[in-house]
This record gives sequence, C-alpha cells and structure tokens, in this order.
Amino acid sequence: MPIVNRISALHDEVTAWRRDLHEHPELQFDVHRTAGIVADKLREFGCDEVVTGIGRTGVVGIIKGSKTGSGKVIGLRADMDALPLTEISGKPHASKIPGKMHACGHDGHTAMLLGAAKYLAETRNFDGAVAVIFQPAEEGEKGGQAMVDDGMMERFGIQEVYGMHNAPGLPVGSFALKPGPMLAAVDNFRIEVEGKGGHAAKPHLSIDTILVASHIVVAAQSIVSRNIDPLENAVVSICAFNGGFANNVIPQTAELRGTVRTLTADTRDFVEKRLKEVVEGTAALFGAKATLHYERIVPVTVNHEANTPFAADAAAAVVGEPSVNRAVIPVMGGEDFSYMLNARPGAFIFIGQGDTANVHHPAYDFNDEIIPIGMSYWAKLVETRLTA
Ligand SMILES: [Zn+2]
Ligand SMILES: [Zn+2]
Repeated sequence: MPIVNRISALHDEVTAWRRDLHEHPELQFDVHRTAGIVADKLREFGCDEVVTGIGRTGVVGIIKGSKTGSGKVIGLRADMDALPLTEISGKPHASKIPGKMHACGHDGHTAMLLGAAKYLAETRNFDGAVAVIFQPAEEGEKGGQAMVDDGMMERFGIQEVYGMHNAPGLPVGSFALKPGPMLAAVDNFRIEVEGKGGHAAKPHLSIDTILVASHIVVAAQSIVSRNIDPLENAVVSICAFNGGFANNVIPQTAELRGTVRTLTADTRDFVEKRLKEVVEGTAALFGAKATLHYERIVPVTVNHEANTPFAADAAAAVVGEPSVNRAVIPVMGGEDFSYMLNARPGAFIFIGQGDTANVHHPAYDFNDEIIPIGMSYWAKLVETRLTA
C-alpha cells in the first residue's frame, strides 16, 4: 500500500493526539478545548491562515501549495464533537469525563485531518490551496450548516468539499462510497395526543388517549409498507411513548416521539405530509385530537456525480482498486456534511474501521491502525485534485 514514508512517520504522533482528544470529549458547539488544540497545531504547522470561531467554534486552516497558478481551493472536513454517553471500552485512553465520550470517532477524524495538514504544510506538493475544515456540533445541532451560514465557502473561496467517516464492519484498508444519495435526511417528530381523561371503569365516558396513540403507532407503520414505492427508501420509527400514570385513570394526554429517514427530497416531503394525515386522521376517527410537530434536522447527503470519482480514485491510489467499493448501499443514518455538499460539489467517503463496536455504542473506540490510511487519502486527494 503506497503510504509515503513521511505519513508513516507521523503515525505515533497523530495517535497520541487522537488519544488525548479521546480522553477529553466535548459536546456539540462546546468544543473549546478541541478547537483550541486544532488551531494551535495548525499555526505550529505553518498554515498560511488559521481562523477560529467560524460557525461559533469551527476552525479553518488554509495551506497554499508551492504553486498557486491553478487558483483552485478545495475543502477537507473533519468533525470534532463527541456524544453524551458513558464509555465502557476499558481502554487506557478512555474518556475522563463521565457522560461524554467520542463514540463516533470524530476524535480520529480530527486527528487524521490534523496529521494530513501537517504533511501538506511541510510538502506543499500541489497547485492551489487547501482549506482544512474542523466543524463542531455534527451530532444533531447542525454545526455544518452553522459554518456554511457563516460564509465559510465564500470567505476562503472553497470550490469543492470532501468529507470522511470511519465505518465499523468495513475492513481496515478499504473505502466505500457512491455517487448520489449516500446518507439519509434526518427528521425528528413529536406527536401530542389529546383524548378525554376519566375513570378507567367508565371508558364510555372518556376518549381513551392510550388507545388512540396506539392506533397512531400502528397506522404510522403503514406509510413505509403501503404508501412508499417499494423501490424507494424510508424509515419511520416511533421510539418514545409517554402517557398515563395510574392503573385506574385514562389519561388526558399522551406523547409520541420518533424519527423519519429518507433518501430523496420528494420522499422526505411525502412522508412528512402523509404522517400528518395519519396522525390527525387516526385521532379524528376516535374523536380525539393529535398534533404533529415535525423538525427537519439534516438533508440527504448527496455525493456529486462528477466529484465522486476523484474521491474514489484517491482512495484506490492508497489501498488499491479492489478495496474501494464505488457502489456502497446507502446508510439511513444522517450526516451534517450534507449542508456543505449542498453548498459546494464534492463527495463523502467511508473508511474501513475494521471489526469494532459500532458507532454510538459505549464500547466503541476509533481504530488507530487506520490513521495513516486516512491521512494518505487526504494527501492523495489534494495532490491529484490540485494540479495545474
Ligand atoms: Zn455519530
Ligand atoms: Zn459521526
């Protein structure tokens, strides 16, 4: 595997950065320590420009090539935030903060992009400029959108953007991606159901909120199975059912919470509309009232057709063509890099993390073995994409 010597030589140093970040996880936009370390290192590497506070706590470093005649600028993005979980990995570098842990590998993403920045700032073997983008709040609070809304693309003249995420279950030394939709749109919803409370022994004088909410749960499952084209993709999951408190009281209200995942804008619009009809119609059938509160969190992550081959070719240059799956099956999880891909063309890629606990599991830990592979991917992408 063609990992250049200089990148191999950085493996231990980058691993130490990664483990330090792992021990000190921070949530959402509150990534002050992490962003501070990132900015300090980027300055130490000799980046031409380092700007903090983009999208609240995001950081961007600019590295100019030894030639800048092409005028091209590409963005490489890593995420910095952790999750509200208590780690059970038992590793020596496990989280020192109860209730917070890097369970999605963003510590590894940040460390690999920092390592790539160090290499790129030393070698500068490209024509144009690289923007290394470190974003906060990937896990649900739209840090990607915050950086885009803060004018990041215009400010640094970024023309294309690329992102990478580790993938447990995908072998070490492999990559996977596809053109078009690769990760789902994520929407959350809450349903308020109001019947008529009363004595459990006199149900005829009440409207049983629990029964109405139960019918809504069942009816909502008909949206994917009966209303969506079987060749399209959608998930409707109701994950919380809160109502009632006593054995002998029919409650006045109940609340349901859940999430919708879709892979196209049309399917997304359709499911939202249909869910509203099902919720309101089912409640009306029983003489009750139900209100759907629907919140769109992140759009579909769509890899641009023209840019996906650049990412795939860079991966193949590192691990060999047979280890790059160019037609991966989309994932119904979401990724707020979608906001950056909506603003500029580019591509997102999965890097094999091997047979580890899954992301968002309390025993998960980023696999340090893949650090030189990820760094090499970034380096190769820059050196092949930024040529005169
Ligand atoms: Zn995650
Ligand atoms: Zn993640």
